[in-house]
Amino acid sequence: MTGIWLAQEAIRAKRDGAALSTADIDRLVAGLSDGSLGDAQAGALAMAICIRGMERAETAALTRAMAHSGTTMAWDRQALGRPVLDKHSTGGVGDKVSLMLAPLLAACGAVVPMISGRGLGHTGGTLDKLESIPGYQVMVERATFARVVADVGCAIIGQTADLAPADRRLYAVRDVTATVESVPLITASILSKKLAADLDALVMDVTFGNGAFMGDLPSARILARTIVEVAESAGLAAVAVLTDMNQVLGTTAGNGLEVAEALDWLAGERSDPRLDAVVEALGVEALVAGGLAADADTARTALGAARTSGAAAETFARMVAALGGPTDLFERRSASLEVAPVRLEVAPARSGYVSAHDARALGLVVVGLGGGRRNVSDRVDHAVGLSEVAGVGTWVDGSRPLAVVHARSQDAARAGVTGVQAAISVGDERPETTPVVAERLGP
Ligand code: URA
Repeated sequence: MTGIWLAQEAIRAKRDGAALSTADIDRLVAGLSDGSLGDAQAGALAMAICIRGMERAETAALTRAMAHSGTTMAWDRQALGRPVLDKHSTGGVGDKVSLMLAPLLAACGAVVPMISGRGLGHTGGTLDKLESIPGYQVMVERATFARVVADVGCAIIGQTADLAPADRRLYAVRDVTATVESVPLITASILSKKLAADLDALVMDVTFGNGAFMGDLPSARILARTIVEVAESAGLAAVAVLTDMNQVLGTTAGNGLEVAEALDWLAGERSDPRLDAVVEALGVEALVAGGLAADADTARTALGAARTSGAAAETFARMVAALGGPTDLFERRSASLEVAPVRLEVAPARSGYVSAHDARALGLVVVGLGGGRRNVSDRVDHAVGLSEVAGVGTWVDGSRPLAVVHARSQDAARAGVTGVQAAISVGDERPETTPVVAERLGP
């Protein structure tokens, strides 16, 4: 022992499979927040954790350190008079559930301070989606966040400089260093934001399948159990719903296109059975966990009424206006969202039933079109992506394409078409449908 602490020695220890002490973890996280841990070191640390894993105590220490890397919210429960609830997903393709659920829960009487992330690997990010709305500010001061949450009932924002800054840094590094698929890193990333938001209860959507970070149900169970237990050890009540991400969720993938789908859904003009099922399952858990509904049936009725009455859409519109977006978003939906200059239909190579999606490959098509990042500093293109994605079991032929590619240029569109054709399989038999909500884990 020289008495000198060196980040590279801690990274080396993790690389060689040792458990890190809480003191080491605290120093590494401090280095992420203040920038003294360089990008190369952050990437190497993420890779070492990704390959070697972490024990439960290390994951809990990492989560705690990242949650306290900045300031934390402290809601005045008495003044709010409503439970503080949130939902978060471990990531997927076409997953626009947060855009629908935050206003829905707020319209049902919850307060939803949602701190979200940007695109990660092949998956889309709620913040990138929201930035498709002109003027919408995802990076706001804590005081603005608190005011919008109290006034509107929900606010979806990014980690400001003072909320879980260590996660903001590590998240961006993981996105471009192939270090996303890691139970401890996902757990610490999600829970650091959620603990900093001072919630009463958290509902997790833990996805599994070829478009998720956890490829199968058993690995998703491990992640769900880790998240629920680490959350509970930090004093946060959590429930996890395990959902199937073996196909694009809904019919769009890409930032602005997903916002359009979510707006249409909130306006009651578009529905998709799998998307509806995920929103409902998570919404039911949240309302019951927050004491806003006595049981699942009551919760379901409340969620349905919040949508059909227009209350959820109105809440979303108020949130957008309060965070700098247009005041007439729903009235001028198509004028507000940028449209890509090139649209190409993807014809199937043969007619038949869609038998499978490679959802990760479809997510990467969106990244390739410019809808995600190749490098930390890249700007995403909000207009590009896929629409009218034919779900598993859909009949496709000369008049029903596999999807429509939205691109910046003809070349990019053609590459997108090739990518979609390779990622969606078509067969003679109609495949059996599997339920999108597989199971729940929690108290
Ligand atoms: N969402 C997050 O916030 N972090 C992850 O690592 C994965 C999904």
